[in-house]
Parts: sequence; structure tokens; C-alpha cells
Amino acid sequence: MTLRQPILSRRSVVGGMLAVAPLLAAARGWAAGPQTVDVVVVGAGLAGLNAAAMLEEQGLVVQVVEASDRVGGRLRTGRAEGYQAELGGSEVGGLYGRVRDACARHKVGLTTKGAKGTDFLINVDGTSVLPADWAKSPVNQTRGKERDFLPYILQNRLMHDWLPFKQTNAWIQPENLQYDISAAALMRSKGVSEAAIRLADMDLNGASLEGVSALSIFRDMARAQVEGFTDPNKPQYGGASLASERSYIVGGSDMLPRAMAAALKLPVRLSSPVIAIDQAGDQVKTLLGNGDVLTSRFLVMAAPFSAVSRIRFTPGLPDAQADAIAGARYSATTQFHFKIKKPYWEKDGLPPSIWSNASFERAFALKHPETGEIDSMIVWVNGDGATRWDDRDTAKQVELVLAELARIRPSMAGALEYKVGYSWGRNPFVGGNKHFYAPGQVTRFAMEMGKPAGRVHFAGEHLRRLEHGMESAMETGEAAALEILEKI
Ligand SMILES: Cc1cc2nc3c(=O)[nH]c(=O)nc-3n(C[C@H](O)[C@H](O)[C@H](O)COP(=O)(O)OP(=O)(O)OC[C@H]3O[C@@H](n4cnc5c(N)ncnc54)[C@H](O)[C@@H]3O)c2cc1C
Repeated sequence: MTLRQPILSRRSVVGGMLAVAPLLAAARGWAAGPQTVDVVVVGAGLAGLNAAAMLEEQGLVVQVVEASDRVGGRLRTGRAEGYQAELGGSEVGGLYGRVRDACARHKVGLTTKGAKGTDFLINVDGTSVLPADWAKSPVNQTRGKERDFLPYILQNRLMHDWLPFKQTNAWIQPENLQYDISAAALMRSKGVSEAAIRLADMDLNGASLEGVSALSIFRDMARAQVEGFTDPNKPQYGGASLASERSYIVGGSDMLPRAMAAALKLPVRLSSPVIAIDQAGDQVKTLLGNGDVLTSRFLVMAAPFSAVSRIRFTPGLPDAQADAIAGARYSATTQFHFKIKKPYWEKDGLPPSIWSNASFERAFALKHPETGEIDSMIVWVNGDGATRWDDRDTAKQVELVLAELARIRPSMAGALEYKVGYSWGRNPFVGGNKHFYAPGQVTRFAMEMGKPAGRVHFAGEHLRRLEHGMESAMETGEAAALEILEKI
């Protein structure tokens, strides 16, 4: 449900203060905005911004505080000298009702024209193989019918056959907790070879198959099927991906959170990390890194649990929630975006994109949405592979990526020009591209981790139940706002 009509019969308790707040702030030298509001929202990603918008629409005075110097969180558009690339979320699913609604309300355009993927060259253990030759290649160390599965469909293909449910909410049901074991352990119990497990690991959007709960993968798979990914023989990315129609935000993904933030009555307080939250009586006190203290009746914590782990709560949070925060796992992602200067695939006659088990993992050569010309490349590393890149500076990373690509494929030497890149694992306020459950964690705390703790309510994609990606952020922001509205 999306509330768009005010439902409160009485005025916000601090609404009247707003008018005088700028004067008071100026007199006291406050950094920005009033120090007392109805609700403080921590985090200016989609979850926090959606919660703030809904609470404001009901007449509450809401202050969003954001640790970094920009709004949008994991929606981040990189721009460099006329070049634009999405470094975070980009695809708006056909069923993303809340995201699409927010775009319409804020007059942010959507287009179905996005860059298209191209076919892959497989490179395993330093040897290149065409997809058509994979099943019979000596490089393919998998066994039995696994040999027929291209490495980039392997994980999906294997897990698909064992998917125990179709409904998106079934993952949390008690009968499915038996799958809350490591995905690698599940694969071994089904007789999957170690070679197949190693290859399937490359495509995981999680740390590693050893460290991710199979239930976490099944949950995402059930949701992806609703969105149209029903053919396990197609990769979920690249030229062959099949899905319900996806859209992209015109001008860049960050246009949506920027518009949502601009529509709020109180400007988002940027560069204001929350470091402590104290609850006493009917008040919540929020301590910011610069020493400012905000007082409110409620708080929405819409920061990722990876970042919440550094916030002090008084009184402490309930055990299950504290466990969920301390044990929060995020999949790292490191990306490098290049402009393609030379059609290297014409020189060697091989497919333009590369799927490999080398350190760069995947290199997507993309067709321009308008011209159809292959003119850009994203090198995309996920999970533990991405973390291994993170201790080097960007210039060194780019040098190593280019060298590795040219070593594997000599025609690529001098063919790429680096434009922008990003490491989500290195962002201290996010820590990865998405939350996943380690084995046993669904059982331990998935039901409890999103429950309100006194006047503190929680939101963010890590609390997703039915949705995923951007839509789950919107969904959980909405849920937190409704919880608060029900209390007042
Ligand atoms: C590489 C990548 C690709 C993706 N692709 C897609 C896609 O194609 N489609 C899709 O639907 N989704 C995609 N996603 C996922 C989607 O972007 C996220 O699910 C969604 O944006 C998360 O929103 P959120 O509000 O929950 O969290 P975030 O966007 O992470 O927002 C949380 C905010 O909290 C702030 N914060 C943290 N700590 C504090 C603190 N102490 N004080 C104040 N503020 C704090 C952070 O700085 C951040 O701005 C992708 C994500 C990534 C990274």
C-alpha cells in the first residue's frame, strides 16, 4: 500500500517550530535545520527517502541525515567528461511499482533503451574457449551433465533444479529453513563436482558459495523468476538475458533520489554520520559526528547493517537484532568502466565480452542503446574476488585490469580507455552491493532483525521480504513509515 493522502488528524507536535527554526538555527549557529523534529531518518538512499516522503506527507517534520556528501546511496551515476555510467543500481524491473510511481510523481523519466550485452568468450585457467566448444573442452573439468552447462549459467542452472518454492515469501517459512545451509554444502550433497562449485562461485553475488546460505540464493531466484527469469539456460546478464521489460532512469539512476530529496521540506543534512542513538522516555536523541544532537519522537534507521554496526545504541538493541547487525554480510562489488577505442573482436574474431575465472571475472562489452555500436566495457568483479582488489589504489587496479585483459586477449592491448570506476566494498557507509545471509543466519535472525526497537524503526534492502533491489528499499521504507504512523 502507498499512502499519498494525509491521515493524521492532529498537527505534528513540532510543525509549529519549523517556521522559527531557521531564525533559531542562525542565532545558535547550527549547521542546518532544526534540532527537534518528529522523525529523524538515517540514510538518504531510496529506503530513507521514501520513508521521509511518506511521513512528511502525513504532516510530520522529518529530518534526513546522511553520512556521505551526496544522496542516493547505492544509486550512483558516474560522470566524466561527457561519459556517463551507472556504478550502482540501474535496472528498474517491470514490476517495480513503487520505484515507477516515484519516478512519475517526481517527473523523472524512464526509458527502456539501455546498453545491450554481447556474447562471451570463456577464459578458464588462462585458456580461451568458445561457448560452442565448452562441453568438450579439456579446460572444462566438470563432470557428467555439468559439462554441458556454460560456466556463466552453472550456478543458476544447478540451483534452479532444486528451487523448493515459487512464492517470493516462502523463503522465510519454517519448512524451508532446512536450506539455510551453505550453498556449497547443498551442491556437494547433490553430487556436484568441486570443479563445478569453483566455476559457479565466480558468478555469485555474495562472498562465496561456502559463505552464503542456499536459502538466500533461493529467495533471490524465486523473485527473479517473478520478474521473468524463468529459463535456467540463459544467464541473468549479457546478450542472451531474458526478462520482463526493464527500464532505466533517464539522465542517470541518481536523478530519482536527487528529485526525492529535493522535494522534502527540510534539506537532507549531508556529511552527517550518525554515531549514537539514545532512547529515553518518549524521546530519541541522535548524535551526529560533528557533535550536533537531534531530538525526535521516532527514528528510521535506513542505513545498511554493515554501517549500523558502528552506531552505539542506548539501551542496546535486542539480542537477535544485535546478532544480525554484528553478523551482517554484504557482497562486495568493484567495477571499472572503459570506453572501447578499437574493435578488438574484429582483430581476433572472438566474441566481444569475456567470462573468466581470472581476477577481473567478467568484462561486458556493451552496445550503445541508440547506435547499436559496441562502444563501452564494464569490468565487474563480485564477492570475495572484489574484496581482493580493494587494498590497491584505483590507478594500480586499472593498470592491472588492462594488463590482465591484454595478457588473456592480445587484441585488447590499447583498445580501452578508463573512464570511471567504483568499489562498493570500500564505501564505509554501505560496504557492498547487497546484503546476503550466511549459512544459519536466516534461522537465527531473519524474522527478528527488522522489528522496531522502541522508537527506532528499521528500513533498507537488507530487510527485504518480497521485493529485491531498488524496489525492496522503497518497500522497507514504506513499511517503517507505516509502523510509525500506526503509533501516533
Ligand atoms: C553495483 C550495484 C548494482 C545494482 N544493480 C541494481 C539494479 O540493476 N536494479 C536494482 O533494482 N537494484 C540494483 N542494485 C541494488 C540497489 O541499488 C539497492 O538495493 C538500493 O539502492 C538500496 O537502497 P537502500 O536505501 O536500502 O540503501 P543505500 O542506498 O545503501 O542507502 C543507505 C544510505 O545510508 C547512509 N548511511 C550509512 N551509515 C550512515 C550513518 N551512520 N549516518 C547517516 N547515514 C548513513 C549511506 O551513506 C547511504 O547513503 C544494485 C546495487 C549495486 C551496488
